[in-house]
Amino acid sequence: MGWTSVSSTRFKCRVLVDFDGTIATVDTTDLLLERFADPAWVDVEEAWKAGRIGSRECMLRQVALVRATPEQLDAFVADIEIDPHFPAFVALCRARGLAVTVVSDGLDRTVGAVLRRHGLDLPFRANHLEWLGGDRWRLGFPHAKDDCRALSGNCKCQFAVAPPGTVRVVVGDGRSDFCVASEAELVIAKSALARHAAESGMPHFSITSFAEATPLLAAWLDEKPDAAYSGHDQLRDE
Ligand SMILES: [Mg+2]
Repeated sequence: MGWTSVSSTRFKCRVLVDFDGTIATVDTTDLLLERFADPAWVDVEEAWKAGRIGSRECMLRQVALVRATPEQLDAFVADIEIDPHFPAFVALCRARGLAVTVVSDGLDRTVGAVLRRHGLDLPFRANHLEWLGGDRWRLGFPHAKDDCRALSGNCKCQFAVAPPGTVRVVVGDGRSDFCVASEAELVIAKSALARHAAESGMPHFSITSFAEATPLLAAWLDEKPDAAYSGHDQLRDE
């Protein structure tokens, strides 16, 4: 996998947006587990919160506890709502020539279906939910990295690796965003990410929804004259 520039302008900007709790109004993985997993998933969650296991191991064990048919899962996903202001954020990015990629430590089946249902044709990178037949599932990690500081399923920092001069914008809400936010030139943060940024002295803008993020990004870009001429820095299709 790699990145390719489709424009040779002076200023490139890569916008990485988290999914659960950021685009989706809820944490869809938690909701799915509450709905379909054996209650032992909560014990696994506690082990992760206590730092005894990384998020990759946490999700691997939790998804193994899920009992749902594909039909049940897809019906569940059909009820997931997104921040109603997110499409306007995407429209702003498109108008300014900024490439948006959804980076999620959640499930590709959920992320893809929710984006499609809302007419959002965006590249996304998430963990791979594989159907084993019947009501059984297994989680795969096509974007895991052995040296990931957060032991994430999807190591988001790899998507922040960019040619010199590239401006990285991260929008997120949770622990899976902490590392990649520390690499970014602009951090737009909700919830736990905003608290983490404040506590660690990381420059950021705190928001509660994309209704605030869109004018904020527009104003920030306006202060960077080159950004008006920004080129795509697009994730290449695999
Ligand atoms: Mg999140």
